[in-house]
Amino acid sequence: MKLKVVHTECGREVLVRQILDTGGHCPWDGKPFNKDYTAVLAEALEAAENAGGVLENALEKIAGMGPAMTIDRESILGGIEEQLEQLNGSRRRTR
Ligand SMILES: [Zn+2]
Repeated sequence: MKLKVVHTECGREVLVRQILDTGGHCPWDGKPFNKDYTAVLAEALEAAENAGGVLENALEKIAGMGPAMTIDRESILGGIEEQLEQLNGSRRRTR
């Protein structure tokens, strides 16, 4: 999974790989995404991307087995959407 990140200061798209390479800074303008948590933020983004990939792979494997089940969409995406809304919502309000 590749997360699509946009720096709210410059509006440009940034890859998690680039944020890791710069230690939590925007590769375009060099500004930190958070002045206090540059390294921790970069690590958490990497963890989110990796975890998303693991989740996708597991779901693909499950679907490939054609099991006699459905998985409730909300049970997988509900918590994720809530966190995204909190992140993106608060960023929108400050712009
Ligand atoms: Zn930027």
